[in-house]
Amino acid sequence: MPTTTTECDLLVIGTGAAGLTAAITAAKSGLEVLIVEGEAEYGGTTATSAGVIWIPCNHHSLKLSVTADKPDNMEEVRRYLAHEVSDWGNQSRLDAFLTAGPEMVRFLERETEVKFNAMEYPDYHADAPGGHTMRSLIAVTYQASKLGPALPQLRSQLPQTLFLGLAIGSTLEMKAFMNAGRSFKSLGIVLRKLAGHFRDLLIYRRSKHLVRGCALIGRLMRSVLDLGIPCWLSSPATGLIVSDGRVTGVHVQTGEGPVEIHAARGVVLACGGYARDEARRLATYPYHAAGAFHASTTSLGNRGDGVRMGEQAGGAFDVKVSQVGIWMPVSVIPDRKGPNGVWPHLVDRQKPGFIAVTSNGKRFTNESASYHEFVPDLVRACEAGKETYCWLIGDSRAVRHWGIGVVRPWPVPSRRHLRSGYLKRADSLAELAHICSIDRGGLAATVTRFNRFAGTGVDEDFGRGSLIYDRYQGDDEVSPNPCLGKLEKGPFFAVKVLAGEIGTYAGLTTDEHSRVLAANGSPVPGLYAAGNDQASVFGGAYPGAGATIGPGMVFAYLAGRHAAASSSQADD
Ligand SMILES: Cc1cc2nc3c(=O)[nH]c(=O)nc-3n(C[C@H](O)[C@H](O)[C@H](O)COP(=O)(O)OP(=O)(O)OC[C@H]3O[C@@H](n4cnc5c(N)ncnc54)[C@H](O)[C@@H]3O)c2cc1C
Repeated sequence: MPTTTTECDLLVIGTGAAGLTAAITAAKSGLEVLIVEGEAEYGGTTATSAGVIWIPCNHHSLKLSVTADKPDNMEEVRRYLAHEVSDWGNQSRLDAFLTAGPEMVRFLERETEVKFNAMEYPDYHADAPGGHTMRSLIAVTYQASKLGPALPQLRSQLPQTLFLGLAIGSTLEMKAFMNAGRSFKSLGIVLRKLAGHFRDLLIYRRSKHLVRGCALIGRLMRSVLDLGIPCWLSSPATGLIVSDGRVTGVHVQTGEGPVEIHAARGVVLACGGYARDEARRLATYPYHAAGAFHASTTSLGNRGDGVRMGEQAGGAFDVKVSQVGIWMPVSVIPDRKGPNGVWPHLVDRQKPGFIAVTSNGKRFTNESASYHEFVPDLVRACEAGKETYCWLIGDSRAVRHWGIGVVRPWPVPSRRHLRSGYLKRADSLAELAHICSIDRGGLAATVTRFNRFAGTGVDEDFGRGSLIYDRYQGDDEVSPNPCLGKLEKGPFFAVKVLAGEIGTYAGLTTDEHSRVLAANGSPVPGLYAAGNDQASVFGGAYPGAGATIGPGMVFAYLAGRHAAASSSQADD
């Protein structure tokens, strides 16, 4: 088919939170913007996420912190980031993030459909100097019908995280679902929620409300539509057009054939990083390269195209981060493919009555620590072996109450997970050890020791439950330590947990305006990167809930503003 040509001021590649934010910011500044998306649906991994963003000192969080009599301020944030980022970061990018973050939240709320709520969610090291508990925001639930004809193309949340097709919208709702088997109040909330959901399915054939990542993308997309920004789906960018060293456009493959899009102010790469680029993953994830299994929960569209195109145009790929991935302990659900077959262990492992052990039967970490810490500890613990995995083990009380992995709490039946081999069950710990090929003596000794810790409330080995973040993830009805509970009541259950990730942290080198930089530090004219296409501003650290989408949106906002302020000729 012959190549056609079209023009715009700024071309944005990708429809995650980063791409849509860049497009909106630039359009609001008067640029003619065009968005291309490789998949048939928009929203990327962002749509499947929890939709939380970490933006310290935004106006909602500051207000909440004052009301709670724990006022936050930038000085404290800087102290905290100095602790978290250490020598890995770049000060001018960190400064840009801190200044532009609160600005971006106000801009989006003032000018678009995007609205946030403050959350009380501890920083992942809230006990560290400058740590706090109110720096994260979540997109306000959105009415699905507001997207009109664009609704069916919105990527939905990961099906395994839904309950009978219903997305859990808030931490309170999550608690109600977990407690439904033991509290009439929680059961009432769940039944009301489900009744509303089934009514919506009957009338609208889907949930009437978008929550979490879908609410964020839904609100951003409504704003894109209101601004009249064209968004081409099923149109992957295949290469950049570079003339005289300047990026001036993109080659795109569409259903109607190849199109050359010329973009006078340049191009924003927002392709979501390289989690689905096996070659680059193997080159950068050492345990994976050594043969260990790895599973990703990211969108299949995150093939690393942005990083590859950026490099081809002269940009540098930065692996000088403390962690190259945004790690997540995962389990693999048999017979389900891609991200739909990967369960992110975000809720169960922190709860009382669960421990994680390697094949020697020993614990290796604080199970209640953040996912970004759990996986590096698992990798270290398995260094000597061929495989990288552990077993998450819970007794009947814990599994009944919290579920385990994709297995839901009582009274939802677990038989099919036993049949598929996902869930292991045994009447005694010794039998469970046999089924899972865990050292029997090792497991017995670990559980005896751990049960003693649960009694005293002090985990002498890993300090589990001693930190604010741990306790937030625990069960506040359990004392003396909300994260520790004895494993004593059979049957016992286990799920195999592996190393996985929810995105990549290594990426293109960029500056404080999100311009892609060459290895010598000079900007590649006309080229920006945002979201997971740029290397982590935190140098690989994960300071708090929303530490990827937050900076992703902030640097997209900065890219949009810079492109609008630049001229098409300038060497900027
Ligand atoms: C279950 C889960 C929960 C999470 N919760 C959170 C959370 O609460 N907070 C947080 O900060 N992070 C969270 N994350 C991580 C977060 O979702 C991602 O890091 C983030 O969404 C990445 O955003 P992005 O805009 O860079 O990319 P994406 O949202 O993945 O968007 C990239 C888009 O670019 C498209 N694309 C790729 N290549 C091309 C091409 N060649 N041409 C055109 N289009 C292309 C892709 O198809 C995709 O649609 C979570 C992840 C998961 C899986």
